[in-house]
Amino acid sequence: MNNQELYLKDKAQYLPTFNRIPITFVKGQGSKLWDIEGKEYLDLLAGIAVTNVGHCHPKVVKAIQSQAAELMHISNFFVSPPQVALSELLVNISGLSRVFFANSGAEAVEGAIKVARRYAHSKGRGGKIISMENSFHGRTLATIATGQAKYQEGFGPMPTGFAQVPFNNLEAIQNQISDDVAAIIVEPIQGEGGIRPADAAYLKEVHALCQANDIVLIFDEIQSGIARTGHWFAKDHYGIQPDILTSAKGLGNGMPIGAFLCNEKIASAIKFGDHGTTFGGNPLATSAAIAALEVIVEEGLLKETREKSAWLIDQLKVLQVKYPQIKEIRGLGLMLGVVLDTPALPYMQALLQKGIIANATAENVLRLVPALTISYEELQKFIHTLDDVLHAMNSK
Ligand SMILES: *Cc1c(COP(=O)(O)O)cnc(C)c1O
Repeated sequence: MNNQELYLKDKAQYLPTFNRIPITFVKGQGSKLWDIEGKEYLDLLAGIAVTNVGHCHPKVVKAIQSQAAELMHISNFFVSPPQVALSELLVNISGLSRVFFANSGAEAVEGAIKVARRYAHSKGRGGKIISMENSFHGRTLATIATGQAKYQEGFGPMPTGFAQVPFNNLEAIQNQISDDVAAIIVEPIQGEGGIRPADAAYLKEVHALCQANDIVLIFDEIQSGIARTGHWFAKDHYGIQPDILTSAKGLGNGMPIGAFLCNEKIASAIKFGDHGTTFGGNPLATSAAIAALEVIVEEGLLKETREKSAWLIDQLKVLQVKYPQIKEIRGLGLMLGVVLDTPALPYMQALLQKGIIANATAENVLRLVPALTISYEELQKFIHTLDDVLHAMNSK
């Protein structure tokens, strides 16, 4: 079987909801991927900010292999050592006090919305959830109700009790404040929305507004968390502690796992039976996540990510001076967006032709979310190739 044959076979069977690229990957190591025809690629997408410690990191592989042979699943009726250990790790790195495990990002957000509403109702408040325009919180019904209009089209009726306001606009939030509002959900850095960081002053004000009005502040750090920005969570750059924090993507380094964390105030509104899950946080998934978090510590990836980020931004700025197509470089850590003056898709395709995987998002943004373990040589290779692509597209 070759790339094209598998692509066509897949196309005939899979629900036509992805416009897949006709490449079939069969092997990964670090930031390298190999397709079924043996061609090597450099990966700056990392499964959409998922394989933060690289594809098939030996420590993660070993954790999965040995846990799979020991015990994979027991239900949440019982206690499991890896789940207890992961809870402890997450509580330590987040500064929050309670954790709940899910199987994906959207599910973590769903849980966060539920407990936020549960808390609000316990205080006699309404259940309205305020989210940001251009945000992304997942593809379930409640999470599309928080997100962009394009994901809602044709799926009505939408769940009620959701309102959207422009991002980075304090007045728009102030105008929404009432006893009806249970929570505000915000990505400290919008990911799918085009790598847009929240303004620091804005986020501080939102936090203060929530505290003053007993509104639950939810940070969706599914993409920006787990060392992605050079701190455990993007909130650490801002020095703001939300009431609830969601995590997924990089948490399991490819093993599907999500989580939300909350403070004791929120947790105190939750009682037996309020929420649940069959798979969430099972021994297999939590073992993978523990290994991924330990790799981040052992390999000093928080500091490395900040250093690589500074280096990469410098290199991108050199390209920006050379090529008028680059409008802006934004983001934190290794969650960077190169904003172009035209759609990013042709750039993404040109890079792919040259064996480099990046992502086009929000129309004109080239999104770079490589593994945090990516080497300087690999980053250099990317910069050289991007230089070539920008040059070719410039002279078109
Ligand atoms: C990817 C993402 C989600 C959804 O995660 P899934 O695992 O695809 O459900 C939610 N919020 C943010 C910020 C994301 O980047």
